[in-house]
Amino acid sequence: MAAETVFGKIVSGEIPVELLAETDRVIAFPDMNPQAPVHILVIPKSTEYENVAELAAAEPETLAEMVEVAKRLAAEHANGDFRLIFNTGASVGQTVFHVHAHVLAGDLEERSLV
Ligand code: 5GP
Repeated sequence: MAAETVFGKIVSGEIPVELLAETDRVIAFPDMNPQAPVHILVIPKSTEYENVAELAAAEPETLAEMVEVAKRLAAEHANGDFRLIFNTGASVGQTVFHVHAHVLAGDLEERSLV
């Protein structure tokens, strides 16, 4: 079980966000510190999983839904192409330990990896 994080507070509504997509299992909202013209976070509503490896092992269907939502948002907000990043572990830059996909799209000429 993951410790409570800022994303848990977003899922519960304690911290308001601009909801860009919602399904039974997933929500998406803009990153507050965008690193690309389109920078959206897609997260599961479940607070159980700290990272993508844990989620893939336990609920692969939720991971597939996150990718589906990312694809839809990239088509809505850019030309349909997108980069998906899952930072997994503090030493590679993960700061929020509630699994999240960074969806980067638009003109990525700086090739930010978040
Ligand atoms: P990480 O470094 O863990 O892969 O990414 C965490 C991301 O969450 C960062 O890009 C950061 O800007 C974003 N973030 C952290 N707290 C909040 C918040 O309260 N609201 C939003 N919209 N984004 C957040």
